[in-house]
Amino acid sequence: MLDATNDVVVVGGGAAGMLAAIMAGRAGARVLLLEKNEKLGKKVYITGKGRCNLTNLAEGEEFFKEVPHNGAFLRSAMHAFSNRDIISLVESYGTRTKVERGQRVFPESDKASDVTRALTRALSEAGVRVCLNTEVRDMEKTEDGFLLSTPEGKLPARAVILATGGISYPSTGSTGDGYRFAGSLGHTVTETYGSLVGLISEEKWPSLLQGLSLRNVRLTAKVGKRQIYDELGEMLFTHFGFSGPLVIELSSHLPEPVADAAIRLDLKPGIPAEELDARLTREFSENARKQLQTVMLSFLPARMAGIFPSLCGADGSMMAGNVPKAVRHRMVDTFKGLPLKVTGRRDVAEAIVTRGGVQVKEITPGTLMSKKVPGLFFAGELLDVDAHTGGFNLQIAWSTGALAGRRAAEYAKEVHDGIQ
Ligand SMILES: Cc1cc2nc3c(=O)[nH]c(=O)nc-3n(C[C@H](O)[C@H](O)[C@H](O)COP(=O)(O)OP(=O)(O)OC[C@H]3O[C@@H](n4cnc5c(N)ncnc54)[C@H](O)[C@@H]3O)c2cc1C
Repeated sequence: MLDATNDVVVVGGGAAGMLAAIMAGRAGARVLLLEKNEKLGKKVYITGKGRCNLTNLAEGEEFFKEVPHNGAFLRSAMHAFSNRDIISLVESYGTRTKVERGQRVFPESDKASDVTRALTRALSEAGVRVCLNTEVRDMEKTEDGFLLSTPEGKLPARAVILATGGISYPSTGSTGDGYRFAGSLGHTVTETYGSLVGLISEEKWPSLLQGLSLRNVRLTAKVGKRQIYDELGEMLFTHFGFSGPLVIELSSHLPEPVADAAIRLDLKPGIPAEELDARLTREFSENARKQLQTVMLSFLPARMAGIFPSLCGADGSMMAGNVPKAVRHRMVDTFKGLPLKVTGRRDVAEAIVTRGGVQVKEITPGTLMSKKVPGLFFAGELLDVDAHTGGFNLQIAWSTGALAGRRAAEYAKEVHDGIQ
């Protein structure tokens, strides 16, 4: 392993690192892939709840719309290696794919491990040497390349691709080492926090509903007068506040601090306010001698029905027949726009993806090489780029990995030819 002739060393064997190594190997470079875990792609295994939503079929602007943060930086990478390219690659190694709702692509087997298996075969065919259980502890620039410190000694490389991921789900190996390496070589690392992550409630009532999941609800968010989110789906109440697919997705649209956004929950998106008012009027008169909270059972799941009157400033034990018109109108308003007061995001360690990272201004988008340190390349979540859910984040890793791999191989060849 301590070989003076490594053209390209890839640090990190996640989605981006695997693609980088495959493409550098295919371009004829001698490639070493270093992964500190006992296996490759530990995070890939848990993506899409173990099914791996590996990409999305959205094309062109439709794709970039889903990359709200520094999406323009990705144009060259997406051009170099697209969603169709990752599908062809895994299919050529026996992993067939299927398309689901929202153009999300999954392996036909619903097994994330089949994606990693295909990539492992591609790595081997590209002649990449893979070293598992090998943590890079430090790296330094030398006159004609780099020296990487590993437990087994110092390792020379003509070009290095940092693909160490972000800092979410650190148990998968993504512990932010690459930020440290990039920083020590003069790169700026922007502030990091969870992008696709649960939201903390300012109020107590959501924790009373812990574990309750609501389907077919609508979440909207505004910053000032600007609408930044409006989606239908499923959300979950937790001990800290709000989670579930709709909330996770919302979190990547929110500004920092998140409290700047006004978030509202429409519990009955399919029923216009007037119709809801008429229904409440009818139920109240038909059940005039029942408690308000009991009547609410025909509108809401039991646990929510119990607390809903108090969210409208009403007494749940009041007889339905005695509910004043003003209170009923307030109930309609609450059904159609319950304010969710959030104070922050849950910790980045729980996030699906990290926002922030190595500043893209300091990297050439067409090569993914550092503008500061020749021969240093970046790929994947380590970069200050992130996307919505739907397969876009893995596609960022595949595309940037592939481009960095090809360009690093070219760079290493130029250095090699220059030395000879
Ligand atoms: C629960 C969950 C579900 C997700 N589901 C999806 C999904 O379905 N679709 C989607 O598009 N995205 C999904 N994502 C996001 C997606 O998984 C990531 O954006 C993507 O895997 C990032 O790839 P990466 O290669 O940049 O980083 P990582 O996958 O984090 O890989 C980095 C690798 O570098 C290694 N490493 C780090 N430091 C060192 C070091 N010093 N020396 C050696 N090796 C090192 C790590 O061990 C790790 O293997 C999900 C994320 C999570 C947490």
